[in-house]
Amino acid sequence: MQNFKENLINAIEKIEKARIAVDRHRIVRLVAVSKYSTTQEIQALYECGQRAFGENKVQDLTQKANTLESLPLEWHFIGNLQSNKINALLKLKPFMFHSLHSLELAKQLQKRLEQEHIYLKTLLQINSAKESTKSGVMPEEAIEIYYQILEECPNVKLCGLMSIGAHSTDCNLIQKSFETTRALFEKLQNFGANTLSMGMSGDFELAIRCGSNCVRLGSTLFK
Ligand SMILES: *Cc1c(COP(=O)(O)O)cnc(C)c1O
Repeated sequence: MQNFKENLINAIEKIEKARIAVDRHRIVRLVAVSKYSTTQEIQALYECGQRAFGENKVQDLTQKANTLESLPLEWHFIGNLQSNKINALLKLKPFMFHSLHSLELAKQLQKRLEQEHIYLKTLLQINSAKESTKSGVMPEEAIEIYYQILEECPNVKLCGLMSIGAHSTDCNLIQKSFETTRALFEKLQNFGANTLSMGMSGDFELAIRCGSNCVRLGSTLFK
């Protein structure tokens, strides 16, 4: 646990280097993915200054957010949301939901949000390398679906896109998948899209060079 401060400083240094090399006016948000970490470890990273944390299971988020209730943390939900978990997620009032994967899920969310008179900031997940193992909308249908959600689901506050880089050891393929998402993001900038969530421990510098302004880092911080 004593390495956390060093891990965080190293990560921030790399993020800063990458972003200043491409666009010094861009701010890059760092979400610490705590899905394999304990509440004690989250607290240790909090004490190093980190505030935004991401979880991929509603049950884990519930348990950790409740345990750490007294800390001013910003929770991000980055996992596959099953419709029977919508109520539990909304109860936690997460800061942002990164992994909206379909119009159907948006409509289910809209129904609940409307009943509660609340809003949820969300990102549309893009399956940028068209992998059967990943969820998200296909790049060619993304714009249409984005518009439909904007129109039909006003309480689902769409504010950008999220994607996981291609599952590959070939940097060119990963880069291509990030560029696909970035091109879509640029088309949506006149429609309120301001967040492009791309990049994990193995590929966040590349993601930033490809336009990301939000990286989700787990293993490199909590090692
Ligand atoms: C686990 C996870 C991450 C973090 O992965 P690391 O490789 O540990 O940095 C980022 N995004 C999503 C969606 C994840 O599920």
